[in-house]
Amino acid sequence: MRTPVIAGNWKMNLLSGDAVALASALNSALTDASAVEVIVCPVFTVLAAVSQALKGGRVAVGGQNCYHDASGAFTGEISPQMLHDAGCTWTIVGHSERRQLFGEADALLNRKLKFALASGLNVMFCVGETLDERKGGMMETVLRQQVSEGLSGLTEAEFANTVIAYEPVWAIGTGVTATPEQAQDAHAFVRGLVRGQFGATVSDGLRIQYGGSVKPDNAADLLSRPDVDGALVGGASLNAEGFAAIVRAGVSAATR
Ligand code: PEP
Repeated sequence: MRTPVIAGNWKMNLLSGDAVALASALNSALTDASAVEVIVCPVFTVLAAVSQALKGGRVAVGGQNCYHDASGAFTGEISPQMLHDAGCTWTIVGHSERRQLFGEADALLNRKLKFALASGLNVMFCVGETLDERKGGMMETVLRQQVSEGLSGLTEAEFANTVIAYEPVWAIGTGVTATPEQAQDAHAFVRGLVRGQFGATVSDGLRIQYGGSVKPDNAADLLSRPDVDGALVGGASLNAEGFAAIVRAGVSAATR
């Protein structure tokens, strides 16, 4: 049984007062969520304050991105060591907004992934196809490329600290959710790719989150699918009650 991992990606939202208030509300709401792993990923400027607010509770903290070096002349970047220093145990790598808006490609993301893991962080590594790619019958080709190059060279031990987030780009922030069947098919395909490249032990243990307009009212159905091991939630994670309801859907899926 794979423990579901439910993460909130707060993106470039919330100043410190609202971020700490949201974290504190989650801390109070999620005391009974031990069947799932819960993470929030705030903006860099509030990481330390949010980590402090969540201290001793059930919710871990992650960065939304990080660089593949510890320190130095990399203006505007942040290292895994700095995320750790601010209280993070996780980071996202390869979110589609990083890929699309900031030109991050698989070779770079592979370096980031490996460096974050080597630096002691757990990683949510995002993959997913655009609408044009899906319509053009390219979904499997795109996912194969993102998995083979993005995860290239990972060891079995490193996979224990890696989660894949399957996030179809056409479902992110659009209100259009993949159907549970579409999500299950894509997750099974990704798991098959990982099995082919890294073997059954790795693929059977690997957690694959779904991301793309997950909401309290669709989470239970998505999370009930056999290869859907959690959710990466954008917009709906900015509301404590809504995110707590998604976490509870994960608890129900885990304890069924
Ligand atoms: C995301 O940012 O990873 C995401 C899935 O966003 P949303 O839930 O808003 O679609």
